[in-house]
Amino acid sequence: MKITPLILEKSIQAANDVIELYAEEVAELDREIGDGDHVINIQRGLKVLTEQAAETSQLEWPAAWKKIGLTCMSKIGGASGSLFGTLFVAMAKEGKGGTTSFAEAFAAGVEAMKSRGKSDAGEKTMLDVLIPVAIVLQENSAEDSLSDLLIKVKETAVLGMQSTENMLAKKGRASFLEERSLGHIDAGARSSQLMICAIADVLLQECAG
Ligand code: ADP
Ligand code: MG
Repeated sequence: MKITPLILEKSIQAANDVIELYAEEVAELDREIGDGDHVINIQRGLKVLTEQAAETSQLEWPAAWKKIGLTCMSKIGGASGSLFGTLFVAMAKEGKGGTTSFAEAFAAGVEAMKSRGKSDAGEKTMLDVLIPVAIVLQENSAEDSLSDLLIKVKETAVLGMQSTENMLAKKGRASFLEERSLGHIDAGARSSQLMICAIADVLLQECAG
């Protein structure tokens, strides 16, 4: 499968659509242990990313990641805006030489998010989805088919999201609740998982077609 500009456009549209579909659920999750604005923040960013998608998809990958990252930073707001922005800007930096794989760029992006958020796996955040996904991408060997990898990515994202339910929040607003954060899925983990699964489905469709 060749990554074409159309696939980037379809992926952004799919992320936008899945968040629209699950907006009320994500809003409720952030109301339970945060301040309730997470889905609105993400929707605001995705709306602009969707408007820019045709233009972004004409760029080389590092320039496209950078444009997406800067839009996340300026339009999403909240903790998640700066974290998603950091992910894509760091991916752009890592990919600049042109020889970096997607897995390497994504792993560098996730590392940059950890530094920015002063956070790591197990702290009930979006990183509980993004870190395991980065590991699965990196562990992929050349013999594995792309569709098998994408299915594994989806499963990993879902397990990561579910794992936040019984974690004690250590970062972000939910951490103020201490034990009361137990029993709730993290909103950022849910939105990240939804977007990753929607994008993986776009790529799976391309594999099949
Ligand atoms: P805010 O918390 O500023 O209202 P959002 O509601 O948009 O921002 O995003 C909240 C999400 O951001 C949380 O659900 C969590 O996944 C993530 N998050 C918050 N702080 C951190 C951090 N320090 N490191 C990683 N992720 C974080
Ligand atoms: Mg919030």
